[in-house]
Amino acid sequence: MKILSPRGTSDILPDQIAAWQSLETTARTFFKTYGYSELRTPVFEEAGLFKRSLGETTEVVNKQLLEVKSQRSESEDAGFCLRPEGTAAVVRAYNQHNMGREEFLSKLFYIGPMFRGERPQKGRLRQFHQIGAEAIGRGADHPLLDAEMMALAVNILKSSGVSDFKLKINSLGSAQDKQKFAQWLRDELKGKIGHLSGICQDQYERNVFRLLDSKDEACQEVIKRLDIGLRHLSDSGQAYFSRVREGLDRLGVEYEVSSQLVRGLDYYTHTVFEISCAGLGAQDALGAGGRYNGLVEQLDGGDRRFPQTMGAIGFALGMERILLALEAQGKAVTVKRSLDVFVVSGKPELERETFLLVDLLRRNGICADMDFGDGRAMKKQFEQADKLRARFVVIVGEGAAEGFNFTIKDMATGEQRPLLLDHIAKQIINLL
Ligand code: AMP
Repeated sequence: MKILSPRGTSDILPDQIAAWQSLETTARTFFKTYGYSELRTPVFEEAGLFKRSLGETTEVVNKQLLEVKSQRSESEDAGFCLRPEGTAAVVRAYNQHNMGREEFLSKLFYIGPMFRGERPQKGRLRQFHQIGAEAIGRGADHPLLDAEMMALAVNILKSSGVSDFKLKINSLGSAQDKQKFAQWLRDELKGKIGHLSGICQDQYERNVFRLLDSKDEACQEVIKRLDIGLRHLSDSGQAYFSRVREGLDRLGVEYEVSSQLVRGLDYYTHTVFEISCAGLGAQDALGAGGRYNGLVEQLDGGDRRFPQTMGAIGFALGMERILLALEAQGKAVTVKRSLDVFVVSGKPELERETFLLVDLLRRNGICADMDFGDGRAMKKQFEQADKLRARFVVIVGEGAAEGFNFTIKDMATGEQRPLLLDHIAKQIINLL
């Protein structure tokens, strides 16, 4: 049996890579202008990191963690998993390297693969890629930073070419507000939950917020009838959220307040947001994020070295989803590979001269290649040049050992002219 890639993963083929690189370049450009530095964390971490931060009752931790086991002793390796998301790992690294001591505000970004044991479908993979940003520190507790963070995500999306997406925002308030909110939801749903599915009843018990974005229609009907609003927010929670919206207004970022948006993860407080795109079907979220004040201290294992609460906010955009949206909107970036010069050897005995000329051209920054068909006929070598979309072919003819028989052919016009070995790179560069 042929071995294929694991279900829910995909190879990114050379023809597709231009789209990926273009998206990454756009993101990197914005991260630079917004003052973010790249952080690369391992793709596997202690599973406890995610259990403690995302919460044991969340689907990601409960059902989707992909454990890493090696053939070494159980005790040594037990408890590792492939990272399902980036935030917890960034906070772990932030704490481990005492970034909070050095910096008032750390602005960090990452680009890389994440892993979740999901049921694969279009736009939902087991290995997918995220572009994420996190702003952490004593200076990260400011409503304008929430606005800036959302503007950054929106600007990356816009600049990558995606349109028809919508930013939805909400506020969960402080940790106390959030508790109040959960209690209010439980009270409101108490009499109605008996009619719902077993899964919904389980969610009611374990993490009542999950009911708000339940896919269950009966549950959605019940939720729709609730007058959720922003009632759970304390005065300071209200004031904070107003300033966030004001910031967005000032930046001209369009958004919609959605009281049903809660994001299921335990670590979120205050602002939460999600960006969805029409036309993507069931998996329509391009990205999401929110504020997670308190996570830095929580993951520091009670080692309270910080003089005051650390603020933190971040987002993650799904690269596959963005690329799917671009494709659906007819804006996918495709760049076919191309070559400046393909060097053809006129005779098998001229292989050495051909090989050296390719090297000489490359050392001069010219994209050059040759045929490795071991003395194939000129016709075959020209076919290879066509396949590689070479702009020019240089033919190494007899007498090349003495440095005088080189001809260049423009593959678009068919025009040919001789080249002098002493000036060959310069002559070609002038033609390119
Ligand atoms: P989340 O942390 O689940 O909110 O994920 C943030 C973003 O990553 C989502 O909005 C998606 O764009 C993307 N994403 C999450 N899970 C997957 C997945 N299994 N496959 C592809 N993209 C995903």
